Amino acid sequence: MPVLQRHKQGLYCPAADAWIDPSWPVERALITHAHADHARAGSREYWAIGQSAGVLRQRLGQDIKLHSVTYGEEFTLGQATLSFHSAGHVLGSAQIRVEVEGEVWLVTGDYKRCHDPSCEPFESVKCDVMITESTFGLPIYRWESGQDVAKNIHAWWTAANERPSLLFCYAFGKAQRVLAELKAIGVEDEVLLHGAVQTITKHYQEAGVDMVQTRPVSELDRKDPLKGRLIIAPPSAYRSAWMRRFKEPQTAFASGWMTVRGARRRKGYERGFVLSDHADWNGLLKTIKESEAKQVYVTHGQDDVVAKYLREIEGIKADPLKSLS
Ligand SMILES: [Zn+2]
Ligand SMILES: [Zn+2]
Repeated sequence: MPVLQRHKQGLYCPAADAWIDPSWPVERALITHAHADHARAGSREYWAIGQSAGVLRQRLGQDIKLHSVTYGEEFTLGQATLSFHSAGHVLGSAQIRVEVEGEVWLVTGDYKRCHDPSCEPFESVKCDVMITESTFGLPIYRWESGQDVAKNIHAWWTAANERPSLLFCYAFGKAQRVLAELKAIGVEDEVLLHGAVQTITKHYQEAGVDMVQTRPVSELDRKDPLKGRLIIAPPSAYRSAWMRRFKEPQTAFASGWMTVRGARRRKGYERGFVLSDHADWNGLLKTIKESEAKQVYVTHGQDDVVAKYLREIEGIKADPLKSLS
């Protein structure tokens, strides 16, 4: 029997009688990280990295039954030995290693290889079978360092001293990475936050992540024109009633998808910053090779392209995850 099986609900480990990132309520859920497509409400018990507890409880309910684990800590469920290893994706994100009768499978969850001052760095884990994400699995995706992107964001913001600068990005992970990267390049100014970004940033502050000073924009006088200020907001606030408060703001979006110029134009943002919390093409290949996996399953995004490339160019046994049953 394979160590992990793919079902509609997610990945199931029969030896542990546990699911990884299930999309439906189950008895035992092992959670790679607190993003909504990985962590769903309704399961009876959860296992996750302790640093993700704040965001998980905020999203799934304060009273969930949560077993907090630390990176590298081994524990047993049924016949399986499990451990969580840093994925470098967001605060508390993990890859999950599952060992049954000497065979090691690894589920990467979402991960990245670039340095990110807002979370633990990625840890390379050896395994027999690897299930890797491939969100940005095309050679056009190559990331600049977060520091360089932060310098560009800072230059864009400070060049506009007569207008407020509205930067849109995901509220959990991306926003805090921007705040930490700005701090790392020596920015001293305060950054204003939309309420949804504020709530998540609080959990990062509690975890001791070093970021620039922040304040909820709601605390400022509504008549304040906010000239020369940087405000970070989630994409859902773009063109919303909330945005009417700002007079002639300049707007930008920060995401890995900004690599594709069409995406930027369609949405109407004036500026796009390429900043991703997923591995780029080189990061994916490097990680797959370092794992020394004998079989790789690819999921999310460019699964077919990456699997074909691995088979034909790298000589690695690889298939899209959808072929696993
Ligand atoms: Zn994620
Ligand atoms: Zn994801």
